[in-house]
Amino acid sequence: MPEKLPENPAVVFLDGTSGHLPTAAGAVKNFLREKSVPIDLCVTLTREFGEVDNLRRIVPPAPRRHWVRADCYQPETVLAHAAKYRPRLAVFPPGVFGSEMCGRLSARWRGSAMLGVTDFDFPREAGGPPSVKKWVYSQNLLAEFSLGEPPWCLGLAKSWAGTPKNAPPDPPPPPDSRDDFFSLPPGKPAHLENRVELAVKDSGELAEARRLLVAGLGLGDAAGVALAGACARLMEAGWGVTRPVAMNALADPAKIVGVSGATASPDWALALGASGAAAFLAGVEGAGYLAAVNSDPEAPIMDKCDLAVVGDAREILAEMIALLKSGRE
Ligand SMILES: Cc1cc2nc3c(=O)[nH]c(=O)nc-3n(C[C@H](O)[C@H](O)[C@H](O)COP(=O)(O)OP(=O)(O)OC[C@H]3O[C@@H](n4cnc5c(N)ncnc54)[C@H](O)[C@@H]3O)c2cc1C
Repeated sequence: MPEKLPENPAVVFLDGTSGHLPTAAGAVKNFLREKSVPIDLCVTLTREFGEVDNLRRIVPPAPRRHWVRADCYQPETVLAHAAKYRPRLAVFPPGVFGSEMCGRLSARWRGSAMLGVTDFDFPREAGGPPSVKKWVYSQNLLAEFSLGEPPWCLGLAKSWAGTPKNAPPDPPPPPDSRDDFFSLPPGKPAHLENRVELAVKDSGELAEARRLLVAGLGLGDAAGVALAGACARLMEAGWGVTRPVAMNALADPAKIVGVSGATASPDWALALGASGAAAFLAGVEGAGYLAAVNSDPEAPIMDKCDLAVVGDAREILAEMIALLKSGRE
């Protein structure tokens, strides 16, 4: 086990304006404790300095705590403040705030960032790189990376959240610990017209679908892909897409099936206009029955499925929709 290098205490960033603070702070505390990472400073956003007494019980006990008053999490103003710290090691919680700050601050600091970090080791020797691990290819491979130049910015994986069994209570903050208070400019910045919060979707519903339609590039355009969606709704099936369909902005990336997205194990799956690349097939190989529609009888998927239909996927979808609708009348 390499010896921990003492010059790397962490600076932690948390968003106290969000209802997710307890989960986010819990994830950071679990990480710091399990990896024996010493903390130097905890920077927390807060709506009101009056909330600090409550927040202090939630955030990791650090020798220095900076409370930054902000009306809401507004990346540009928060980044302008946070960029002044430039620590050697910065830890960010899982979630939108942590991911955004981790990526954008590391770019401003010209450091290195990794999101979804499940494991971390200090450099084995002075001047060496720390190593981090994260799951890649849709949780199929645990990869180990060396980080580049410091500041090293770690965006933690969601798996750090939760209360571990037999977790010791937080130690009290060191007796000489101190709080400092900062206020960000009030209101919204001049360049911001409007702010809309969108829910983050994940591909969990595809992974759990019992029936699945998948739209490939062979469907041609947004109207073709929409046909697959309409047909899936009539069949009460889930529907996903191959990666290039999402990359061409024809569908939400949360709908990708394959190593870069959902791995499904439905009772049956129907792939329409998908060639059958290995990276895609990995997402449907757990299907009880796989059918494919492709205009090319030589397409790789035609050998790998249980039922191969040679034909125009758009025409077949249009017919299926008409049949399903007539069956309901
Ligand atoms: C690291 C990495 C990760 C990847 N991860 C994924 C992943 O998770 N998921 C994924 O899908 N891909 C992934 N890919 C991409 C993958 O390798 C393929 O490029 C992709 O799956 C091809 O998508 P497609 O079948 O829709 O398109 P294409 O390969 O272009 O195939 C289109 C098919 O449609 C057929 N076709 C054309 N017109 C019609 C029609 N009118 N009717 C019926 N059929 C028609 C064609 O004959 C062809 O077979 C990954 C690639 C890499 C390098």
